[in-house]
Amino acid sequence: MSVAERLREVLATLPEGVDLVAISKYHPQEMILEAYRAGQRRFGENHVMEMAEKAASLPTDIEWHFTGHVQTNKIKYMAPFVHTIQSVDSFHALSEINKHALRVGRTIRCLLQVHVAQEETKYGLRPDDLLNLLRTEPWRELNGVHITGLMAMASNTDDEAQIRSEFRTVRALFEQVKGEFFSDNPGFNTLSEGMTADYPIAISEGANMVRIGSAIFAARNYKPKG
Ligand SMILES: *Cc1c(COP(=O)(O)O)cnc(C)c1O
Repeated sequence: MSVAERLREVLATLPEGVDLVAISKYHPQEMILEAYRAGQRRFGENHVMEMAEKAASLPTDIEWHFTGHVQTNKIKYMAPFVHTIQSVDSFHALSEINKHALRVGRTIRCLLQVHVAQEETKYGLRPDDLLNLLRTEPWRELNGVHITGLMAMASNTDDEAQIRSEFRTVRALFEQVKGEFFSDNPGFNTLSEGMTADYPIAISEGANMVRIGSAIFAARNYKPKG
């Protein structure tokens, strides 16, 4: 099957109101173009330099989402063009993104990444730390960033009940954060959860943005350059 065919199959499984980010990390530009020609505009990458290289030579109406760990020394390379940084997990990162956004005269959408999975290695804020950040840090003063929602990954497990309960935790946190901090701000509206293996569960637990790579681009043969 071609990329375009796999993309169409994935899209056919998404209910109305659920947005797809096609995760194109490690895949070559030709495959991104194939998905682009089939109508996809929203793509996600995990490495800043790889994303910047691709953005420089691919159509400019692509909406680039960054989903990798935010290294503050790399923000400047994506600030001019990135649409949303989905993986913000500290106030420090948020304020550095703000600084670079203001420098290039932009506002960058940010999702706060929540850590609910069992793995120790995954990035993100524990729910308590996320609430604490919003309660104590001066994030409202940062005019170069808009916090537009939450992002999370579930545990990498076959235990569907475990995955479901993690997504349910994030959904409850999303509603709490919306009520406590964004009741006057309809722009806080994105719950980004679910990858190839678990996105139907994420959607049934309230995700309205899914990040799907391998189901569209097939297995990744490429290793990151670093
Ligand atoms: C790679 C990745 C995905 C997509 O994973 P697939 O299993 O290929 O669908 C989604 N989100 C993040 C943060 C990723 O790193």
